[in-house]
Amino acid sequence: MQLDAADLTALIALCRAEIDLHCEHLSVLDSAIGDGDHGANMRRGLEAVYAEREAIAALPLPAALEKIGLVLVMSIGGAAGPLYGTLLMELGRGLPDAPDAAAFAATLGRAVEAVARRGRSGPGDKTLLDVLYPVQAEVAGRAAPARIAECAQSAARATEMMLARRGRASYLGERSVGHEDPGASSCALLTTTICLYLKE
Ligand code: ADP
Ligand code: MG
Ligand code: MG
Repeated sequence: MQLDAADLTALIALCRAEIDLHCEHLSVLDSAIGDGDHGANMRRGLEAVYAEREAIAALPLPAALEKIGLVLVMSIGGAAGPLYGTLLMELGRGLPDAPDAAAFAATLGRAVEAVARRGRSGPGDKTLLDVLYPVQAEVAGRAAPARIAECAQSAARATEMMLARRGRASYLGERSVGHEDPGASSCALLTTTICLYLKE
């Protein structure tokens, strides 16, 4: 996990481009079981991070991740902002300056738990946590990046058959079944983008 400033700048640009490309699809997913703004929320968040990429990339990795989390909280809004923000801020606060794979996996585990506490949600509730938990398990098992990306995508697809128990989608009860969760989808997109970059 040795990421230098050039890697961080590249990753921020790639994540921003990926969310921009799928913005409409994410909002269509959110229209089915929420209020239709998830694509716009995520795009606003990634645009804000992109605007600050030079300052962020100049920081040591932990401080950079914490800063990204702060920017995301302030810019995404809605339910997803504090959750993505918590993930990145906890990662940043927990990582040493030059984390090895074990330190990264342990810190990611604690960060995912912090997201769960923040959302008062757990596995099977049909949220972005249904991607974060399996991804964290693959990272802990030292899976290859391509494998982690596949896992994230199938985990997002698996939310389709779940009944939402948290967030706006939970208001729909049984009618939430049959639609992929937008937060799980954005989480899989970002995980895949990061993993494909790390694989190179
Ligand atoms: P909002 O629902 O406020 O419009 P977004 O549309 O940006 O926010 O984000 C919705 C996503 O946030 C959901 O698809 C889900 O993945 C995630 N989410 C919402 N509430 C929770 C929660 N309590 N715990 C975990 N994730 C949640
Ligand atoms: Mg929404
Ligand atoms: Mg909203």
